[in-house]
Amino acid sequence: MRKMGSVPISEVVSCLDGYDPDALHVEKAREAMRACIAPITDTELLPVRQSLGRILAQEIVPAINVPAHDNSAMDGYAVRFADLGAPLTEIGTALAGKPFHGSVGAGECVRVMTGAVMPPGTDTVVIQEVVKREGKTITVPPGQKRAQNVRYAGEDLKIGVPVLAPGKLLRPAELGLIASLGIGEVRVMRRLRVAFFSTGDELASIGTALKEGEVYDSNRYTLHGMLSRLGVEITDLGVVRDDPAALEAALRKAAQADAIVTTGGVSVGEADFIRALLAKLGEVLFWKIAMRPGRPMAFGRIGNAWLFGLPGNPVAVMVTFYQFVRDALLHLGGRRGDDVVPLLRATAADNIRKVPGRTEYQRGILFREQGEWRVRITGQQGSGVLRSMAEANCFIVLEHERGPVKAGEQVQVQLMEGLA
Ligand code: AMP
Ligand code: MG
Repeated sequence: MRKMGSVPISEVVSCLDGYDPDALHVEKAREAMRACIAPITDTELLPVRQSLGRILAQEIVPAINVPAHDNSAMDGYAVRFADLGAPLTEIGTALAGKPFHGSVGAGECVRVMTGAVMPPGTDTVVIQEVVKREGKTITVPPGQKRAQNVRYAGEDLKIGVPVLAPGKLLRPAELGLIASLGIGEVRVMRRLRVAFFSTGDELASIGTALKEGEVYDSNRYTLHGMLSRLGVEITDLGVVRDDPAALEAALRKAAQADAIVTTGGVSVGEADFIRALLAKLGEVLFWKIAMRPGRPMAFGRIGNAWLFGLPGNPVAVMVTFYQFVRDALLHLGGRRGDDVVPLLRATAADNIRKVPGRTEYQRGILFREQGEWRVRITGQQGSGVLRSMAEANCFIVLEHERGPVKAGEQVQVQLMEGLA
């Protein structure tokens, strides 16, 4: 089991500059979570193919050069640069995987294919398209450069020079790179275990008829999707009634995971009995974040599990997940360095309402018009309107201090592809 720091969360966050739980800036909330959470340390050894999407837990240091030999980058003739200016005699052929074994003397050259080891004595490759060939006599035009079209041993990866660091996400390129070193197994961080449930007396599960005042529980489905895409092991604990005993039982079960995500029940009014319950089971802070949607949020820990108490509104769930939980889980899972989703610039196609003093995540559609990337909002932006997420391909991220946006102004967008 993971060792938890003994420092109370409240102590860690109170040391952060400008920490105000009742008007917390988005960046500060993210920083606070990172400051509290120590990454897991358990690892496992996996065959390279199965490591796709996992976090590297070791340093990769080449034991061989890649490529292992100097070789030709083109189809052509391997020559001694100093001999150019006079016709050359072709004395053999080298193919990829079939080297030429003789040595190349003055006035001689070897026919080479891409990937062929450079024949001993040669230093330059002349592409086949420019030479004149009569029988075994090769004439090379002037204007060649010494060492052209040669790939050197170790040009890609050098013996002893670390190439991948722990914390790196393993993508297709990394799998290939590891394989190019002849390595068959890699050590990766173990998968995180995340348990989640929805709270609310008004929630109906799919398969039952809706009674008056009920809504189908959609949050567990978006959460299932978002967590699955992050590559964590999930435990779906279903719908839990707004009832202290039921909530306590669910939280105790969920606390066996590395992290717990709940939705609903953190807004004012509902929070009171939950506050008391959470205080009994662990340490949980209630935040009002200066953002929209997603203002109320709880963060803390219960036993060994980190708790993320998200608002109930379906859009707020997605926004707070992407802006906080995603980042916190990547950090907890051991990812380092390359985990920031870039903000790109686009031109606002319409006026956008915005009040200063909070960061807004409006749902947008990024499109190309007359050679320019423009973005418009997806109609209704209510935090209960999940359709706005389904229609969107990006968030329009309107900064904390910013006021109303006029059509034609530049805004920041964050593509949803890449967030998950
Ligand atoms: P709450 O944060 O619990 O006050 O919920 C805020 C709003 O989100 C209410 O309208 C809830 O009905 C709605 N809501 C809460 N949980 C869910 C859920 N799992 N699926 C769909 N809507 C929900
Ligand atoms: Mg509720």
